[in-house]
Amino acid sequence: MSDPEHLDTVRKFVSQEILGRETHLDSLADAPLALYERFAGTGLMNWWVPEEHGGLGLGLEDSVRIVSELAYGDAGVAFTLFLPILTTSMVSWYGGTELKEKYLGRLVAQRGFCATLGSEHEAGSELAKISTMVRRDGESLVLDGTKAFSTSTDFAQFLVVITRSADDPGQYLAVTVPRDTPGLRVDKRWDVIGLRASATYQVSFVDCRVPSDHALNGNGLRLLEIGLNASRILIAATALGVARRIRDLCMEYARTKSLRGAPLVKDAVFVGRLGQFEMQIEVMATQCLAAARTYDATAARPDAARTLLRQGAQKSALAAKMFCGQTAWQIASAASEMFGGLGYTHEMPIGKLLRDVRHASIIEGGDDVLRDLVFQRFVVPTAKRT
Ligand SMILES: Cc1cc2nc3c(=O)[nH]c(=O)nc-3n(C[C@H](O)[C@H](O)[C@H](O)COP(=O)(O)OP(=O)(O)OC[C@H]3O[C@@H](n4cnc5c(N)ncnc54)[C@H](O)[C@@H]3O)c2cc1C
Repeated sequence: MSDPEHLDTVRKFVSQEILGRETHLDSLADAPLALYERFAGTGLMNWWVPEEHGGLGLGLEDSVRIVSELAYGDAGVAFTLFLPILTTSMVSWYGGTELKEKYLGRLVAQRGFCATLGSEHEAGSELAKISTMVRRDGESLVLDGTKAFSTSTDFAQFLVVITRSADDPGQYLAVTVPRDTPGLRVDKRWDVIGLRASATYQVSFVDCRVPSDHALNGNGLRLLEIGLNASRILIAATALGVARRIRDLCMEYARTKSLRGAPLVKDAVFVGRLGQFEMQIEVMATQCLAAARTYDATAARPDAARTLLRQGAQKSALAAKMFCGQTAWQIASAASEMFGGLGYTHEMPIGKLLRDVRHASIIEGGDDVLRDLVFQRFVVPTAKRT
């Protein structure tokens, strides 16, 4: 499929399968797996997986456009469909040859999901304090511990779990675990305020055993940081899609609502607000695409895995996530006022959009955490300042 073709496919999927059905997706019913099955039917499931593993190998610039379209329909659907990129990018850069062939090949063939488990209750964003331990036992790795949040784990084919070595607590491993491994238990699904078409779980491991070649090569915390570059840019693209939807909803409403004898769309205050939204959306899109191009350029290097180990978090990805999360939240807040009292009811989709977009400034690092990271990595070393 060429670029315009796959974007048309995504737009068609959104208009046929999502728009007008958001109320259903905003419930905490079972994860809408049938909907994801229909997305898989478009041929675009896991669209970024490299061609050598049977995937389409689309880059992150394409992914930004795809995710913005999906999120225009529903942010939870977008989140569920792109989040496996966090897992697959760690496996494809840092997994052994057999591991990659087995797990990525099967993921593409079976059009499935995978998940990453990093967060824990006690450690919070201080990931160096995680207490999910892994120990070597002969040819096996044995995992024990509890992960607080993990999206899609219950229906994933495999997981990458960030663990601490019991043999050397200063060492961290990223371990691939098939979903059906004995000792892996899904404790509960979280009741979340938004992104309700996604499903996030608490998960425990008790004496959970996998072959020792299931550890990825490299420090688990660093690999997670590298994996997060792509998904943080795509969280930003989700915020962009939600902001675009809000703008269009405001325009629809303004055509029917009258103020002082004229449609709201003729009101100078309304016009100014919509002009402001469009300016903000333009900058969000520009930043997402710029960050994606930087990511694609690094990913295309023959020494990408080594380069990324050296670089870690990508500055423009952090900037995209923070800027788009904050800006989309401002847009959602301003828009909810524009609907008057209806903006505070479930009659209008704006309440759902407001709840959905909140995640962008929380998941994969809240803004305080990311500001601290940007300060340490890109302000303190003067050479890295823009
Ligand atoms: C719907 C959903 C899906 C998720 N999916 C996944 C998943 O698939 N896999 C996964 O691993 N995790 C997942 N998470 C976890 C998510 O990434 C974290 O919740 C998020 O990064 C925030 O971390 P935390 O909950 O540990 O809170 P913390 O970051 O610990 O925050 C708690 C408080 O401490 C403050 N704080 C922490 N560090 C700093 C700092 N350095 N400077 C200043 N203030 C600080 C914060 O601002 C905040 O006020 C998911 C969460 C949700 C809600």
